[in-house]
Amino acid sequence: MAEDFAECIIVGAGPAGSAAALTLAKSRVNVHVLERGNSPGAKNVSGAILYANALNDLIPGFRVEAPIERTVVRQRYSFLTKDAEMSVFDLHTDQFKHTTMHNMFSVNRRSFDKWFADQAIKAGATYHTGILVDKLIQDSQGVVIGVETSQGTLRANVVILADGANSILNRHNGRSRRSHATTMGLGVKETIRLPIGKIEDRFNLERNEGASFKYLGEPVQYSPGGAFILTNNETLSVGVVTRLSDLSDKGVRPYDLLDAFKNHPRIRRLLEGGVSEEYSAHILPEMGYDHLPPLTSDGLLVAGDAAGLLNVLCHEGMNLAMASGLMSGLAVLEANKHGKYSNKVLGIYGKMLHQSFVLQDMKTVRHFHELMKEKPEYFNELLKAAVQFATDATSITDKPKKEQISRAWHDFTATCGWGTLTKEAFRLWKFLR
Ligand SMILES: Cc1cc2nc3c(=O)[nH]c(=O)nc-3n(C[C@H](O)[C@H](O)[C@H](O)COP(=O)(O)OP(=O)(O)OC[C@H]3O[C@@H](n4cnc5c(N)ncnc54)[C@H](O)[C@@H]3O)c2cc1C
Repeated sequence: MAEDFAECIIVGAGPAGSAAALTLAKSRVNVHVLERGNSPGAKNVSGAILYANALNDLIPGFRVEAPIERTVVRQRYSFLTKDAEMSVFDLHTDQFKHTTMHNMFSVNRRSFDKWFADQAIKAGATYHTGILVDKLIQDSQGVVIGVETSQGTLRANVVILADGANSILNRHNGRSRRSHATTMGLGVKETIRLPIGKIEDRFNLERNEGASFKYLGEPVQYSPGGAFILTNNETLSVGVVTRLSDLSDKGVRPYDLLDAFKNHPRIRRLLEGGVSEEYSAHILPEMGYDHLPPLTSDGLLVAGDAAGLLNVLCHEGMNLAMASGLMSGLAVLEANKHGKYSNKVLGIYGKMLHQSFVLQDMKTVRHFHELMKEKPEYFNELLKAAVQFATDATSITDKPKKEQISRAWHDFTATCGWGTLTKEAFRLWKFLR
């Protein structure tokens, strides 16, 4: 690094870091982004569905230039048992193709993160890749005044940490609650190549249209978490996300879960003939709204996964990362006006996050966390019984339909018990309210 001072240092060139860099560079702030990978995106893993409202705020009309693989027009959520799939939601609509709806897109993180960083560079940000940040530098009052890296020291008025879920710097700084197996998820993903026509036939898509299929139940052995299949242009992203503690409690390896999912009778035909291209694994912050680490301190802001910002319901992380990157950049611009970077001045960042969809959505889904954390077996037993009810109610016998359905309903309520049904309905209402 030729310079030894920047107005703002950003650690990490993922969606959070580049969103902050772009926001600051647009306002002519001297901003330096330090990334340990050899290029932005080189170290990143994701199922690769981009929920794109924050990106639209940053780069209106991004759809024209961004390296988008497919526009998601079909979203399906299913519950899998050992041999059955019960789809609980399957929406397939052309409305998501309209340019006014900046909705969901599949992206390849390597090319997307690189493109996004290039937009910040064009706006004036400086990127240094292949540099590992080892430590935050603090003055005698504990104010963050720079970073120590594998290639020397860089000082700044303010530092934005956007170094991802395993934010070692945040932990070293004693600011983050220690990563705990119950608050961290692990995602494993395989990229499977298939001819374009096969992808479109199997998922019932037209050219450039995409699908996001998510599954609960059997793929994660009825624990919190789930599995997914996402369509890219010429590949599928197939993965499983589960809590670290569940893996160790059950003594299972994540790749075994992934293999079992790929071989599930309702799944294997979707992947048949595909050629495996890549495996990757990454952790996800699942501490939830009530256990977030501090978002700011003197001279420091934390954005994206490093701040625990993830919507656990649909594993929406990139959007929250970009929105928080944007807001951390705006907070630094505000601090620049005062020439002060104290926790109090930077606190505006937390206020912006609380007023936005980022923390409001996380607050809404915090009950989902409780729902799944307390007694996931209730939830799963209920869904298993619902699959059996649907099977019994729709099988063809010599009984009149009315009698058959009422018998299936009787079996369903007998399996679950009215007490459990009422309790679960109440918990679901609490979650949805
Ligand atoms: C299997 C899986 C599936 C997912 N699916 C989706 C999905 O479909 N949609 C979605 O929106 N989200 C998804 N996510 C979550 C999403 O990937 C993250 O929320 C998002 O990448 C967070 O962005 P970020 O910028 O905060 O962190 P990251 O993208 O992790 O970027 C952090 C960057 O910091 C760099 N870095 C780390 N430490 C240092 C250091 N000390 N010095 C220098 N550089 C450093 C890293 O190399 C990396 O480039 C998924 C995650 C996983 C694991």
